[in-house]
Amino acid sequence: MACLLFTFAGTAGLNSPPEPNSTQSVPAYKLADTQGCKYWVNKVTHKRHNKECKWYKNCNGYCTDYKEGIPCKICGG
Ligand SMILES: [Zn+2]
Repeated sequence: MACLLFTFAGTAGLNSPPEPNSTQSVPAYKLADTQGCKYWVNKVTHKRHNKECKWYKNCNGYCTDYKEGIPCKICGG
């Protein structure tokens, strides 16, 4: 199996340009336009993260300029 995987990867690397539809594997929330967004709010836990937080735009959520939701304990929201 390892050999097959290696062969496939090598073939793709040689013959394929950067995949145009590679963004399909990226969650929709990561493609959202967050320019100018002050906060990122997790849709599930409603935790609010600021731009310094590792969870900013890194969990299923939405961007907002308002202090809504619950402040993150790590970044302070
Ligand atoms: Zn946070």
